[in-house]
Amino acid sequence: MAEVDYKSKPIDPDFLNKPEEYPHTGSHHEHKVFAEGVQRLDADGKPYPTKKGIHGAHVAVDFDSCIADGSCLPVCPVEVFEWALNPAHDEVGEDKKIASGTPEWDEWRTDKADPVREADCIDCMACETVCPVLAIKIFTEQPYGTQ
Ligand code: SF4
Repeated sequence: MAEVDYKSKPIDPDFLNKPEEYPHTGSHHEHKVFAEGVQRLDADGKPYPTKKGIHGAHVAVDFDSCIADGSCLPVCPVEVFEWALNPAHDEVGEDKKIASGTPEWDEWRTDKADPVREADCIDCMACETVCPVLAIKIFTEQPYGTQ
């Protein structure tokens, strides 16, 4: 888990119903991305230093909440996740380490758990349960491709 200079806030479980606050801004690895580039507030009410948005609409990970704890990656029985900045790595501690004061720090702060195989999710809820900052929301009513 990386040291960060903001207070992580749980993912908004209702973000899919708030398109003005969380607009659909793109896609990545065949999952949708919401609110990338949008300034949002951390748990202290201060602007998040990053604007990475939320990845996924079935397996949704708030990249601005994620602090690279990594627990969600090995707990997933179908290997939905890998590290966004260290592709093909999916274990605790295999995240790309980012030094503070660098341009990459300004953009990312930490590596992120990326739901690259969202379509494989079997809704076991293990990742949502294990995340220490509640950055993940599983939408069991949103079968992949129907969002
Ligand atoms: S709910 Fe279960 S299967 Fe789906 S991404 Fe999370 S850990 Fe993997």
